[in-house]
Amino acid sequence: MQFRFRPSRPHIGSPFLALLVAAYLLAVTNHQFWKTSIALFDSHALILSLLAVVLLCLFLVACLALSSPYVAKPSYILLIVIAVSGAWFMDRFGTIIDIEMIRSAVETTGGEASHLLTPAFVMHMVLWAGVPSLLIAWVRIDHRPFLAKLLQNTAIIVPCLIVAGVAFVAQAGAFISTAREHKEWLTSLNPVVPIGNAVKYVIRSNQDSRIVVKPLGTDARVADAGATRKPRVVVVVAGETARAENFSLGGYRRDTNPETARLDITYFPNTSSCGTITSVSLPCMFSVYPRADFTHRKGVETENLMDVLVHAGVKAEWWDNNTGSKGVADRIPNTNLFQSDDARFCKNGECLDQILLDRLDAWLDGVKGDAVLVMHQLGSHGPAYYLRYTDEYRRFTPDCRTAEFANCSRDEIVNAYDNSIAYTDHILAGIIGKLAARQDRIDPSMIYMSDHGESLGEYGLYLHGTPYFMAPSQQTHVPFILWLGTAAKAGVDASCLAGEAQTDQSHDNLFHTVLGMMRIDTGVYDKDLDTLAPCRASLVGDAAPDTQPPRGDAM
Ligand SMILES: [Zn+2]
Repeated sequence: MQFRFRPSRPHIGSPFLALLVAAYLLAVTNHQFWKTSIALFDSHALILSLLAVVLLCLFLVACLALSSPYVAKPSYILLIVIAVSGAWFMDRFGTIIDIEMIRSAVETTGGEASHLLTPAFVMHMVLWAGVPSLLIAWVRIDHRPFLAKLLQNTAIIVPCLIVAGVAFVAQAGAFISTAREHKEWLTSLNPVVPIGNAVKYVIRSNQDSRIVVKPLGTDARVADAGATRKPRVVVVVAGETARAENFSLGGYRRDTNPETARLDITYFPNTSSCGTITSVSLPCMFSVYPRADFTHRKGVETENLMDVLVHAGVKAEWWDNNTGSKGVADRIPNTNLFQSDDARFCKNGECLDQILLDRLDAWLDGVKGDAVLVMHQLGSHGPAYYLRYTDEYRRFTPDCRTAEFANCSRDEIVNAYDNSIAYTDHILAGIIGKLAARQDRIDPSMIYMSDHGESLGEYGLYLHGTPYFMAPSQQTHVPFILWLGTAAKAGVDASCLAGEAQTDQSHDNLFHTVLGMMRIDTGVYDKDLDTLAPCRASLVGDAAPDTQPPRGDAM
């Protein structure tokens, strides 16, 4: 006689399973949402209870709508996986999964993504998504025949909607005014917000793919193109995740800028970013549109600074050590250094920023005419700050040596971050050194601006990407460094520049400042947004680049 152990699979009615899934999503994956709600409604038990009733009813309606054979199980498992992974980033880092966060996740490199997939994340997924998913896969759902099911679901959905409506109306004033005044409130509702924004992302990407890029600044000309002078060379360093608060140039208590502080640079301590995430900030920095007018679509459908430079006959080139130029360098020579397998600098799909310096000598030696080179750094991109610098730059210790913040103290996280800033300082000083050494042949300058800042635990937030309207200053206050070579400096009033450095600056200034530095005449140049224009004016009497004579010192 054979004995075979076959555990019988439990049966569950489809409405009851829908209720369990709805309750699980609401209770287990919405820690951040409930925390915010409790704070906003001041622990008011009635309002919070009614809110729970409204949401549970609506979640149940959504789950019931999916409760047909062959659809229910995969849909419920997918909802749970999305909500549980969303909850990890919301609860751990205070991340809000908006459309830009989804764009960033889709466009990320394998190296960058791998730092977020820590063992703790895997454990979280196994426990909170894996176990309930296996249970859902295991049980047998009792589905009634189609018509009977339709009647049954309608008999639940209609009362549910009525209850949700009544509960909402009972405290409509509180719900509506809170949603209006505290836009952050509903941004952590899981999985509604991640799914809604993923759908928006797909629709917008589809629209983007059909866009024909409009030309910009085709009238651009270098004002003194024919003059006998040295090639004008500007290196623009697009920094990554560097926040101004941790720059000693701006008064930070630690010496994070020991190398650039010794050089003849100008630091602009009051500079703000266009976005809080690379996919917004980078296109915006190089766009003709100021932050107030910039949209993702405008960035995609309009040529940018790099194209205007090309129209003016300037050599424009992009080196990327991050996750790509986000479309900015689509029409110019663009080298993705992070794809390099140069073992001196690169490991697991990421390279130290030293790789930018390594190839600069050869590039500068080959420059024959006016040129702008953009270097897009990896900078201080987290959470694995410790991978952004070498042992030699491990100045602030103990430093967090893992991408899993839960295993480090806040001080260790800040130490690692500060080391990455000091390493960037070393890279910038290196670039300036190489430019300065060639002033017999070229007329060089360098601009450094970070794309956005970073949260290091302030207000419970880590990393970046908080929607701009609610982002803390740590994410939007960015460092801006300018170095002018001897020839460029001679065209600018030094005391005026020192005064200008104390004024408010932003990413809006980059486009026009670079055009001004390259002496490019074009209808799209706005001297009011050129950081250096007032200081050229005080020297020669007029700020417009087209009215300035070629300078003798650049011969
Ligand atoms: Zn960035």
